[in-house]
Amino acid sequence: MSAASRIYQVAVPTPLYHAFDYLATVPLVPGARVRVPFGRREMIGVVLGEVAQSELPASRLRAITQSLDASAILPPSILGLLRWAADYYHHPLGEVIHTALPVRLRQGRAPVVSGAKVWMLTPEGRSVDPQTLKRAPAQRHVLEALTVAAEGLDAEQLAQISQRSAAALKALHAKGWVSSHQRDPRPVLNGELQSAPDLNSDQKSSVTAIVARLDGFHPFLLHGVTGSGKTEVYLSVIKEVLAQGKQSLVLVPEISLTPQLVGRFERRFRTPIAVLHSGLNEQERLSAWVRASEGKAPIVLGTRSAVFTPLKNPGVIVVDEEHDGSYKQQDGFRYSARDVAVMRASREKIPIILGSATPSLESLKNARQGTYALIELPERTGSAVMPQVRLLDMRRLKPSEGLSLPLREVLAAKLEKGEQSILFLNRRGFSPVWMCFDCGWVAPCKRCDAQLTLHHKRQKLLCHHCGAEQEVAQRCPSCQGEKLHPLGEGTERVEGALQKFFPQARIERIDRDSTSRKGALEEKLRRVHEGEADILVGTQMLSKGHDFPNVTLVGILNADQGLYGTDFRSSERLFQLIMQVSGRAGRADKPGEVLIQTWHPDHPLFAALQRHDFHGFAEFALNERQETNYPPYSHLALLRAESPTPDAALKFLHEARTLALPLSPGKEVQVLVPVAAPMERRAGRYRAQLLVQSSQRAPLHEFLSQWVAQLAEAKFAKKTRWSLDVDPADMY
Ligand code: ADP
Ligand code: ZN
Ligand code: ZN
Repeated sequence: MSAASRIYQVAVPTPLYHAFDYLATVPLVPGARVRVPFGRREMIGVVLGEVAQSELPASRLRAITQSLDASAILPPSILGLLRWAADYYHHPLGEVIHTALPVRLRQGRAPVVSGAKVWMLTPEGRSVDPQTLKRAPAQRHVLEALTVAAEGLDAEQLAQISQRSAAALKALHAKGWVSSHQRDPRPVLNGELQSAPDLNSDQKSSVTAIVARLDGFHPFLLHGVTGSGKTEVYLSVIKEVLAQGKQSLVLVPEISLTPQLVGRFERRFRTPIAVLHSGLNEQERLSAWVRASEGKAPIVLGTRSAVFTPLKNPGVIVVDEEHDGSYKQQDGFRYSARDVAVMRASREKIPIILGSATPSLESLKNARQGTYALIELPERTGSAVMPQVRLLDMRRLKPSEGLSLPLREVLAAKLEKGEQSILFLNRRGFSPVWMCFDCGWVAPCKRCDAQLTLHHKRQKLLCHHCGAEQEVAQRCPSCQGEKLHPLGEGTERVEGALQKFFPQARIERIDRDSTSRKGALEEKLRRVHEGEADILVGTQMLSKGHDFPNVTLVGILNADQGLYGTDFRSSERLFQLIMQVSGRAGRADKPGEVLIQTWHPDHPLFAALQRHDFHGFAEFALNERQETNYPPYSHLALLRAESPTPDAALKFLHEARTLALPLSPGKEVQVLVPVAAPMERRAGRYRAQLLVQSSQRAPLHEFLSQWVAQLAEAKFAKKTRWSLDVDPADMY
């Protein structure tokens, strides 16, 4: 092959497992984007490398259409990580790479930093007297607004000033009175820096231990009770990493990337920070990504997908609340950002800190066997003590709209003292069941094996699984009776009950419904922080990332949800959730208390919660996992299938199993029998799953590679929607 036409392997975003060969007359570097013909379309792919020969005959090779990058936008380290991830999760590399790129780069835009476009007055514009524009009111309004806006205004802001702002700008621009500029994407704060508090001795020794090992891959599990000052430990380590001129990547769960947290970083370091989360627009996301990648942002703070952000000079990775479920992507490329982060740290030879008050059993086991160094912060900072936990035995107490009498009494006492309370209930809406009290009929979702939730304010029955919406039936379709009533409580109902019991109290509800409007959550949190709220009632949105220093009571309304759940992780999740919510209470000088309403007060999980005994719980839970051969004592992969008819998904899985058996997974890898998913029908589709289990990771992955390769080719597999979930977080 002449130098004029070399062959390159290119990953394109398709569900196919292999890369494609293309010809190019210009030299291409791995990690650069190219536009290529694909079928009858054109696609943007990423160059993997040059190959000497193609399996395709030369006559069938097509040439790239355009080279988009002169240098790699994905450095070899990230390209290598993505290849590993595609292998490990048995997902097509083209799609994996696609996931890792900001949308603008997927679309072929240039990787450049730019802020919003803003309009400003030119010196000529500034000397114009707006009164001379009497006959052009839109131009006059725009001109006046720009006169007082020192940093300029963007199109959106100007549109609020005049409906005809676009035309007005055009006219003003033609006269040379306004010009457009790029605003700095994220300016460094120039206010006063906040110095770190004096670290306590546990924090100091944690920092010392980590800072001593900045020289290579060293994984740390930082187990610190809520309020023990883990974030301060991260900040001190990051300070050291900054001093070495290196970058820090901090991953946080989606829900905790609040302006408060970002502010805490910004006030501590006078250095650019790139923030990456799902709330950004695409230009902001691209800018943050490029600044991280070019090393211009020494600190990168982001949620799940930020784990793939290239760093010019990586120094440390922090995964805060490492147990959190939002690190696992639940569709498409189903990766765990925590696990990918550990692999990334290992490949880039940098330390990684996994922090949590309630570490996952996987990480804990790694720490116990010495794979991770375990660092403990057993106490809260300063004089703060752990809250007292009391169980309310609901077998004896009659709740009224979900609230038992002792809980209401304590709430009243807190109101009296001017202290705040949190009530936690992991169920939004008014009531989870709309039922006929004559015959027992309950309103079902037509498309799911689930009941509809009553939303009172909206006067609708909603399905929380598929989003379907129905009118609230007033007559029972089964017996024609009219005694239809809500059964059970959701946050909306509890909010109403609180208003009834405590008419003078200021109540804030925090759940997906009450915070869907942009900025609503921030506004609610602000009111809570400024003491403009007395009682917060909410779902697990309350459990993470927010500290409420004036909260002295946490009530857990239905703790038993999940106690005997179908998933092997149910009790681990429940424990983490209650411990996290409880941890919101009683910081600093105000001791907190936690009241848990339960019908199973004798369950060992609650005894451990009362003692704040994470290790006691973990001991019990790990034993259970070992006996039942579940992770972390085994490795799982779940083949899922779904179809519009009840049998097709199961039939597919049976065929997939037949395909698996000759691969003789044998003793090391068990392929169980296909079963319907715990909630079989969802959004009109029937779902089934096939579990594969192994005590060893290597044989499991060897088997999966062969199996997936065959499935990808098998004819029967083309008719069914299927996906493989490696290390599944949920079993439904
Ligand atoms: P965590 O991340 O473990 O929940 P944080 O680092 O957020 O804990 O600390 C909890 C609170 O205690 C914060 O308000 C923080 O400013 C404060 N804090 C942390 N460490 C110290 C310390 N050594 N001295 C005084 N206050 C501290
Ligand atoms: Zn009925
Ligand atoms: Zn539904």
